[in-house]
Amino acid sequence: MKNLTFCPKCGQETLQWDHISKFSCSHCDFVLFHNTAAAVAVIIQCENEIFFTVRNQEPGKGKLDLPGGFSDPKESAEETCARELDEELELKIDIRKLKYLGSRPNIYPYKNVDYNTMDLFFLYKVEEKFEIQLEESEISAGTWIAISEIEIDKIAFESQKDFIKNNLEKFQ
Ligand SMILES: [Zn+2]
Repeated sequence: MKNLTFCPKCGQETLQWDHISKFSCSHCDFVLFHNTAAAVAVIIQCENEIFFTVRNQEPGKGKLDLPGGFSDPKESAEETCARELDEELELKIDIRKLKYLGSRPNIYPYKNVDYNTMDLFFLYKVEEKFEIQLEESEISAGTWIAISEIEIDKIAFESQKDFIKNNLEKFQ
């Protein structure tokens, strides 16, 4: 964020970052908030296994990720879950079966900008493992992993590592 020094309104090199969430210009009245963004992560469980994707782009390339993503404006978290699972996996879900589990803050670095997120975790249980149609841009593979065999260090994001490590008993 320190690279952003020019004010987009007056053009002066007087843009200041408060190192939390706010840009402001000392030359004009411009203010811009870079607020925490809502995001969802869906734990899809089939009996004693959880579905993970394998990321094929940074951040976390090659590591495990839960399906999910950023909420769009005017979208509920449950709608984000449904949209992301459809986009990423072509999986159509019943929104009423989503169970909210909890949240963790996360940092998502993308092209030299750090995005602070609030990751909302949902559980979605399925009766049968599904066939997946993977969207090439974000995911290179999908894998079912037994809950007892999840290796926390192979998970891409700190929020997911911490949440899964501390909530494993909920998935038994
Ligand atoms: Zn300005």
